[in-house]
Amino acid sequence: MPRVGVLALQGDVREHVARLEEIGAEVVRVRHVEQLDGLAGLVLPGGESTAIAHLLTTSGVRSGLDEKIRHGLPVLGTCAGLILLSRHVLGGRDDQWSFGALDVSVRRNGYGRQIASFETVIEVKGIGPVPGVFIRAPKIESWTEEVEVLASHDHGDGDHPVLVRQANVWGCSFHPELTSDARVHRLFVDTL
Ligand code: GLN
Repeated sequence: MPRVGVLALQGDVREHVARLEEIGAEVVRVRHVEQLDGLAGLVLPGGESTAIAHLLTTSGVRSGLDEKIRHGLPVLGTCAGLILLSRHVLGGRDDQWSFGALDVSVRRNGYGRQIASFETVIEVKGIGPVPGVFIRAPKIESWTEEVEVLASHDHGDGDHPVLVRQANVWGCSFHPELTSDARVHRLFVDTL
């Protein structure tokens, strides 16, 4: 039973915890840097990337987590979590920082504002079709060849990756935690 953390500073923490517990993981809600020790992996939830970034700094989790990611801690960032892991953030606040662990450029709210939120079916490599809930979702506009694309979606402007992996760093534009389908979580957890 892998011990998996969910970064619990802001955002849809509860839903991630539920999906992870459903698939048999032991879940730790991470609010302090010491709680990173002994984790097999960590989920960075959706929410508000600027708020989570701010709380990462003030809680003191930021530098410890940065080091863990660089040393290979498997991390899955969904929506705002993806923004936090990305190399380049477009449309962010001027002072918005990110871990820069995933070689992608993401545009905040790249699929539109709240009112343009949508649900669709996403075909994920090795899993098949899963429900994809997009809420003010970041759009991956460019990526390097180090980045494996596990799923893409064409929202009328060509294919853009929506689930990617670069070694230990996973990013997802949509919200796999907001449906009862836990297969994206299982895909991540099975690698731990
Ligand atoms: N647009 C939000 C941000 O920039 C992310 C939205 C989400 O996580 N649902 O943080």
